[in-house]
Amino acid sequence: MSSGPHAGRPRRDDPAWVPSWVVAFLRRLPQRWRSGGPAVVAGRALLLVTGALVALTVWVLSPGPADQVVLAAVGLTAVGLLVLSTALPWHGWSPRAPLAFPLTVVVALAVLGVGTDSVAGAYVPFFVLCFVYVGVFLPPHTAFGLLPVAVPLYLLASEQLDAKVVVRTVVVACTWVLVAELLAQLARRQRAAADVLVRDARTDPLTTIGNRRDLEDRMLRLVPGDTVVVCDLDHFKQLNDTRGHAFGDQVLREFGAMLATHLRRDDYAARFGGEEFVLLLHASGTGPAMDVVERLRQTWSEGGGAATFSAGCATLDVGTSAQQALVAADAALYAAKRDGRNRTRSAEAADGWGPRVGADSVRDLSHEL
Ligand code: GH3
Ligand code: MG
Ligand code: MG
Repeated sequence: MSSGPHAGRPRRDDPAWVPSWVVAFLRRLPQRWRSGGPAVVAGRALLLVTGALVALTVWVLSPGPADQVVLAAVGLTAVGLLVLSTALPWHGWSPRAPLAFPLTVVVALAVLGVGTDSVAGAYVPFFVLCFVYVGVFLPPHTAFGLLPVAVPLYLLASEQLDAKVVVRTVVVACTWVLVAELLAQLARRQRAAADVLVRDARTDPLTTIGNRRDLEDRMLRLVPGDTVVVCDLDHFKQLNDTRGHAFGDQVLREFGAMLATHLRRDDYAARFGGEEFVLLLHASGTGPAMDVVERLRQTWSEGGGAATFSAGCATLDVGTSAQQALVAADAALYAAKRDGRNRTRSAEAADGWGPRVGADSVRDLSHEL
């Protein structure tokens, strides 16, 4: 069951905290280059940015032929690793796996430091960029893992080794870790805040199952064979009038909790509005879907539910949309109400629902969605 506590479950990869222009740019990239999640995509950007900056500025250093060979070898290796990164199954790996990107950069800088005369030392500021990347995109404390590798490589990448360089290394190493840890904490807080916003925007505050916005998204994922069920508590206004609004609220809460607890794991429930709820039952077909609803009815009644409910269901067929199924399920619900309430009607029984039958004959909900 994917409602209840899971309604609007925060998505780890949700880029809500990344600037919108970056998201817009990334969406234009071919899928292959967007694969692996934000940390991997940013890792590719780290390789590209450092490579591009070296390529744009290295001519100022007038590298000799031997240095040019080293530069070309390092550049080609980096490009090869970049292409390789688009083919790797990052999602199955640890969230720290993209550490491979800053490691590649610091190793490349060390090779330039050891293997060239003209270039050595010029690009050591990139070390801090690597730690900024680690802080923003990788889990907290990852910088401590990079540090033991980065310090010796920084010494190798430096032009010469003297007491000043050693002191500078100590200072920059402390700075790297401080910057990375600070950014990691800020990024974590921002991500958590964005997750809360996303979750709240998709959760019905009274029942804590999905709300209408979440339902709309879920409906887009329905396929033929899935069933839409609209449930409506019977005579709810009367219940409010006789026992009070607070009691009515409690009944709605309990109904939502019952749905969240008793639906199958892959099924979904949302509060459509007022005392109406929509269930999305996957790969069930109308008959089994009606059985599911009858089991819910029994559970609800055995649990002492203060109001009965009526339901209408419609199963998607090839050529029918989720929207049409919702309209048809709503019409079936009205048939159940007309027939005396506390029962379930299928769209076939209510309106001759099917792929060849338009939904025009039933109450149009499309303006509401
Ligand atoms: P029917 O069996 O035909 O569905 O009758 P009904 O009384 O359930 O339907 P009607 O549409 O006449 O009334 C729905 C009631 O639901 C009226 C409204 O006050 C109540 N309601 C809607 N949202 C809430 C809510 O959040 N809390 C409470 N307590 N009541 C609500
Ligand atoms: Mg009602
Ligand atoms: Mg109603």
